[in-house]
Amino acid sequence: MSQTADVIVWGLGGMGSAVAWRLARAGARVLGFDQFGPVHDRGSSHGETRIIRKAYFEHPHYVPLLQRAYQLWAELEAETQRTLFLRSGLFIAGGPECEAVRGTRQAAADHGLPLERLTPAEARREFPAFRFEDRDEVVFEADAGYLLVEECVRAQLEVAARHQADLRFETPLRDWQVVPGGVRVRTATDEFHAPRLVVTAGPWAAGLFPGLRVVRKPAFWFPLEAAAGAAGRDAAFFFDLPAGQFYGFPSRDGATFKVAEHTGGEPVADPHRVDRQLAPRDLAVMRGFLEERRPGAGCEPTGHSVCLYTLSADQHFVLDRHPTDAGVVVGAGFSGHGFKFTPVVGEVLADLALRGATPLPIDFLGWSRFRSAV
Ligand SMILES: Cc1cc2nc3c(=O)[nH]c(=O)nc-3n(C[C@H](O)[C@H](O)[C@H](O)COP(=O)(O)OP(=O)(O)OC[C@H]3O[C@@H](n4cnc5c(N)ncnc54)[C@H](O)[C@@H]3O)c2cc1C
Repeated sequence: MSQTADVIVWGLGGMGSAVAWRLARAGARVLGFDQFGPVHDRGSSHGETRIIRKAYFEHPHYVPLLQRAYQLWAELEAETQRTLFLRSGLFIAGGPECEAVRGTRQAAADHGLPLERLTPAEARREFPAFRFEDRDEVVFEADAGYLLVEECVRAQLEVAARHQADLRFETPLRDWQVVPGGVRVRTATDEFHAPRLVVTAGPWAAGLFPGLRVVRKPAFWFPLEAAAGAAGRDAAFFFDLPAGQFYGFPSRDGATFKVAEHTGGEPVADPHRVDRQLAPRDLAVMRGFLEERRPGAGCEPTGHSVCLYTLSADQHFVLDRHPTDAGVVVGAGFSGHGFKFTPVVGEVLADLALRGATPLPIDFLGWSRFRSAV
C-alpha cells in the first residue's frame, strides 16, 4: 500500500474534476480515479448544456454559493482560454404563485439581484416562439444563461492536471476503509492510502450512501420553428406548469434546440444498466409541453441524450464530512441542479478535506438535516 497523495478523489465527473482542480491549485497532492474515460456520457455531466442562474428559487441560501461559482467560472475561462458560460439570459414562467417564479423573486429580493418582471404581453413580444397565457407570471434574469457541460469538465480536468493532479481513468474504485492516519481505497489490483478521501461518485453514490435515489432523465433536440430567430430574444427558458417543470436552451446549431423535463423520471436501480433508448412515454410528455408552450417547433426529435439525476430526500445537495468515517468527505445528491455549482462545490469539498471546515455557507447542506443519516 502506498501513500501517494494528500487527498484521493473518488469519481472525476462534474464535481470530482472541480475538486481535483481546487485541491491541486491549493497545493495539495491529488490522486483522482474514475471508472470511465475523461468526459464520458454515462453519468450526469453530458448532453451539451446546463442552465446557470443566480436568483435561485430552490433556496435563497444557494445564492452566495452561486456568487462564488460565477467568479470561479470566470477564473476557469481565463485560465483555460475557453468559452464555458454563455450569458443568453433566462426567463422563468408559470401560473400565479408557482414555486419557480415566486422563489426566484424572493431570492432576487433577498440578495439584491437584478430581475426583470414581464407582463404576458411583453413576454410574447420578447419571446415570440413561446405561448404565454394571460395569467402567467414571467421573470427574466439577464445574468443567467448556460454552460457547455463537457467543455467545463474538460477544462476542470485540464487545470487540475496542470497543477500536478494525478488523474487515473478506466480505474474503478472498489471500496474504502478508514485506517490509521487516513483512508485506504482499493482498485482491482492496487491499494492507495491518503489522509483524506473525497467521494464524488454522482449516480453511483446511491450505492454508497442511504437516502439517495437515481432517476433516468432524457433530453431532446427538436427542429426549430421556421420563423425562429426572426424576432425576439434567444434566451434559455424554464416553465413551471401543472404538468411539470420544463426547460430548454437557445439553439446551438441554428437548426435545433434542446428541451427537457426537470420533474419526473423513471427510477434507476443500477446506473450501469440504463435504458438509453427513447420510450413512447418520454416523447408524449415532451410533445405535450411543446404543443402547449412552443407550438411551432417540429414534433419529431432529431436527437436525444439520457442522463441521470441523483436525488436526495429533500432535493438539496449533501456537502459534508462523512458522519462516521473520519477523513472521508462527501459531495452527493445534486438532485438535477448541481452542475452550475461545480467549481464552488470543488472549493467547498477541498476546504473540508484540507481544513475540516469552509468559510462558504453550507450549513443547510449537511447530513444532520436527515434523521436517518448514514
Ligand atoms: C439531463 C440533466 C440535465 C441537467 N440540467 C442541469 C442544469 O441545467 N443545470 C444544473 O446546474 N444542473 C443540471 N443537472 C445536474 C448536474 O448535471 C449534476 O448535478 C452534475 O453533473 C452531477 O455531477 P457529479 O460529479 O455528481 O456526477 P458525474 O458527473 O456523473 O460524476 C460522477 C463520476 O464518478 C465516477 N465514479 C462513480 N463510481 C466510481 C467508482 N467506484 N470508481 C471510480 N469512479 C467512479 C463516475 O464514473 C463519474 O464520472 C442536470 C443533470 C441531468 C442528468
